[in-house]
Amino acid sequence: MAELPDTAFDVRRYASTARPVGLRAVEIGTDALLRLPALIEPVTPSRIVVLSDAVPKRRHGQEATALVTSLLSGLGDVHLVTVQAGAGGVHADERTVAAACAGAAGASALVTVGSGTVADIGKAVAAELRTPVHVLVQTALSVNGYADDQSVLLVDGVKRTTPTRWPDALIADTQLLAGAPPELNLAGVGDLLAMFTAPADWRIASLLGMDDSYAEDIVAMVREHGQAVLAAAPSLRQADTAAIEVLATVLTLSGVAMGLAGTTAPASGAEHTVSHLIEMAATRQGRRSAYHGAQVGAAAVLAALVWQHVRERVRAGLVLLRCPADEQMRPAVLQAFGALDPSGALAEECWRGYRRKLARWRERHGASGRLDPAQLDDAARLLEQPAALTTALRRSGAPALMAELDPPVDPRTTRWALANCHLMRDRFTVVDLAFFLGIWQPADVDAVLAAAR
Ligand SMILES: [Zn+2]
Repeated sequence: MAELPDTAFDVRRYASTARPVGLRAVEIGTDALLRLPALIEPVTPSRIVVLSDAVPKRRHGQEATALVTSLLSGLGDVHLVTVQAGAGGVHADERTVAAACAGAAGASALVTVGSGTVADIGKAVAAELRTPVHVLVQTALSVNGYADDQSVLLVDGVKRTTPTRWPDALIADTQLLAGAPPELNLAGVGDLLAMFTAPADWRIASLLGMDDSYAEDIVAMVREHGQAVLAAAPSLRQADTAAIEVLATVLTLSGVAMGLAGTTAPASGAEHTVSHLIEMAATRQGRRSAYHGAQVGAAAVLAALVWQHVRERVRAGLVLLRCPADEQMRPAVLQAFGALDPSGALAEECWRGYRRKLARWRERHGASGRLDPAQLDDAARLLEQPAALTTALRRSGAPALMAELDPPVDPRTTRWALANCHLMRDRFTVVDLAFFLGIWQPADVDAVLAAAR
């Protein structure tokens, strides 16, 4: 039996923080969904829009979207808006968000029922329409992106984290979550494994002057539940409600941490850029991707191994850093991403982000410099051993390798994503550090991949 973290989620705890939490209520528990009408009632809605997708969702054998609609039927005029799936599922692209906005126009309350992508669309719609109340009913433990004010949207085919809006209330009903496919709930564990790699990326970026947003207490509010997550994960497959409650709580804390930080950096480092690239490749080829969190879990193992690789080489005396010129890197970025999009827009979007990172580095350090190993140690205390991550995934019955995902990622795509992930955006991670240290050559990438196997 998994134990609930002793700080069960209390929104009021974060009410006075510098960047206030817009989330006003969080309901986690067995009958959390039944409290939905009470959350909506105060706004005396005339038009209520329930936004969902066509994926079946069940609570005790009952269709969840229909249950939500019937719970709300006494409160106002309830309309169901279903977001349309494209090739490989629902995508949070401009067209899909615009269609959802058209369907939800004029609503005084929006209730989004779904997992990660639908939630991202719901937050974007509520932001765009300034809907008075937005309640998010999460239907899986798939990601940590429910409880924050940002959405991952597709811009020119590139996944971009975009400021949208906090849901006013979040509902994580354990009976509804227990009905989600076990693989989808296990994906939430994978997404949470980023807590063992991303904060170290965030810390080293901060120490090197590449990120001003780092905050130790924001890292701690999630990281202190690390062992509880690893302990609960193996019980998820049996839909153990106590384990579901632990995961739902920590996923919410992780979302709030991103919201408080004003960036996804506390929960998104190199492991996420690897995963984003793999998803982008699949989208462009019209293929289905594995669940985001499942992919992040396998990528977290790779990121932890990159950290290990860098630390070994720095311990052996390698400290010289060199930042290459724009003229050298622009062709490299265009070459890395050109094949994904014949129009060139995607590669240019990546280059815009990467160029900002290079410029910031030169502003702080010039074209070359030396790494202080003490800074690397400071960041590395936030890491977990790669083997511990692999073990947690294996014990839970979750994929630990890209080749084990459903569908599997082929070795060529995995290698491409790992080798080029630092070129995708302006966020500085351990892979940028490896690259500037001169240890991100093909042989280094192969060594990390071999260690994962
Ligand atoms: Zn994620």
